[in-house]
Amino acid sequence: MASDNCLFCGIVKGEVPADVLLRTEKSVAFGDINPQAPVHFLVIPATHIDNAGTVEAADSEAVCDLLTTAQRVAQDHGIAETGYRLVFNVGQDACNTVAHLHLHVLGGRGMTWPPG
Ligand code: 5GP
Ligand code: ZN
Repeated sequence: MASDNCLFCGIVKGEVPADVLLRTEKSVAFGDINPQAPVHFLVIPATHIDNAGTVEAADSEAVCDLLTTAQRVAQDHGIAETGYRLVFNVGQDACNTVAHLHLHVLGGRGMTWPPG
């Protein structure tokens, strides 16, 4: 269910402008406004889920669609072969700032491990 005060629900509804890369029935992929890598996009479920720490079994199709949508957009942006990092931030210590589940997809450069 969309939340009236949620920024990313606004992107799903087309009320907040975004660089939308792909829409499926269950997900929307769009460029991150503050990219941390040459390729950095977010994939969000079309229905509101707070974060990866609140995902339930009933969300399984929505969460699977996040991954398959990420695969498709990664392919379109030429990073499927070179590799990419997938990140879900949960809570304060992970610097989670937007309370609508989002999968970060980062690629186009070598990543360090552990991340800073
Ligand atoms: P978090 O830290 O919550 O995992 O990530 C939130 C991400 O959303 C950040 O990378 C931030 O740059 C991005 N972001 C925040 N507001 C907007 C926005 O209005 N549009 C887009 N495209 N990205 C946003
Ligand atoms: Zn939302």
